[in-house]
Amino acid sequence: MSDVLIVLVPSSGHASRSELAALGFGLQVAKSLGGACDALLLGSQATAAAEGLKGVGLGTVLTGDHPDLAQPTGEAIAAATVAVAQAKPYRLIAGPASTSARDSLPRVAARLGAPMVSDVLAVRGASAETLSFTKPSFSGNLLADVDLKGPTAVATCRPSSFDAPGAGGSAAVTAAQLPAKLAHPGKKFVELNKTPLSRPELTEADVVVSGGRGTKGDFKLVEDLADLLGAAVGASRAVVDAGWMPNDFQVGQTGKVIAPKLYFAVGLSGAIQHLAGMRNSKTIVAINKDPNAPIFEVADYALVADLFEAVPQLIAAIKQARG
Ligand SMILES: Cc1cc2nc3c(=O)[nH]c(=O)nc-3n(C[C@H](O)[C@H](O)[C@H](O)COP(=O)(O)OP(=O)(O)OC[C@H]3O[C@@H](n4cnc5c(N)ncnc54)[C@H](O)[C@@H]3O)c2cc1C
Repeated sequence: MSDVLIVLVPSSGHASRSELAALGFGLQVAKSLGGACDALLLGSQATAAAEGLKGVGLGTVLTGDHPDLAQPTGEAIAAATVAVAQAKPYRLIAGPASTSARDSLPRVAARLGAPMVSDVLAVRGASAETLSFTKPSFSGNLLADVDLKGPTAVATCRPSSFDAPGAGGSAAVTAAQLPAKLAHPGKKFVELNKTPLSRPELTEADVVVSGGRGTKGDFKLVEDLADLLGAAVGASRAVVDAGWMPNDFQVGQTGKVIAPKLYFAVGLSGAIQHLAGMRNSKTIVAINKDPNAPIFEVADYALVADLFEAVPQLIAAIKQARG
């Protein structure tokens, strides 16, 4: 048993950057095991998204478009995954560390009696006996090496730590055999409250401009800078707790973990829980009026300034440079 199954619930007809990174993770583990990496795509976009994944080196692409997955709950995703894993045992079942996978994959681990690790950052080794991973601990201040024993293991991976797969092969696309009922009888989907986005999604963006409590709740400058750069907007938890921005925008330990090419930290202090969500960004620019703010310890470019003066100047300078 040396194959890997990556479980995805695509929200559009194309796999997102984090879904592709999870496939990159699965392919890396499968290569170490000498096996294949299959993908299980669930939900109404499964068949459309499967088309784009035929040529990325996967073994088989399984699709599951089931009435109980129209609004996929953790229980329904878990039930579908367990059904697939019972038809063909896998050495590893994994997905990106998304809200959905954090809900469904622990249920899969519990139902299969398998060990689980979350937020994998690196693969240290993979064999029939042991899967060895590195994961963050204490908000990323420590790295823990974790060995999982047993025939099957379950994991989520940090998409920012893995690359999308390259081109290769021609995978077969097959409909997964799923039970007639996937939904839990005690749980009913009521409504999805999703913040409509006019900007890139935080986890997908190359550039992110985040604001903190220093904005005093006025996000206009943060949003103007983001729009100029085609960036996503992020926020610290202090901002979300104050009700200035919805919690989908929160970056950090209890928010989204991202690693864009460029991260602007505007009027936020850089508490360890915030750093846990963005410290792997390629280039970090911090604007803060306190020269001792901890954000400056991780910043590549540090501007000690009042954001209400510095950000308009930055916006004007970018506009001028662009002519
Ligand atoms: C269990 C737990 C989980 C948490 N998870 C998260 C998380 O996921 N994400 C997260 O962000 N936090 C998280 N926190 C909260 C975290 O500890 C901090 O409280 C929070 O990040 C602080 O937000 P902030 O930087 O916006 O505010 P502050 O710490 O108040 O910093 C505001 C900064 O703005 C600067 N400033 C003020 N005015 C100006 C100005 N005019 N111009 C320039 N700079 C200015 C100040 O110098 C200061 O550095 C968590 C905490 C706990 C206990």
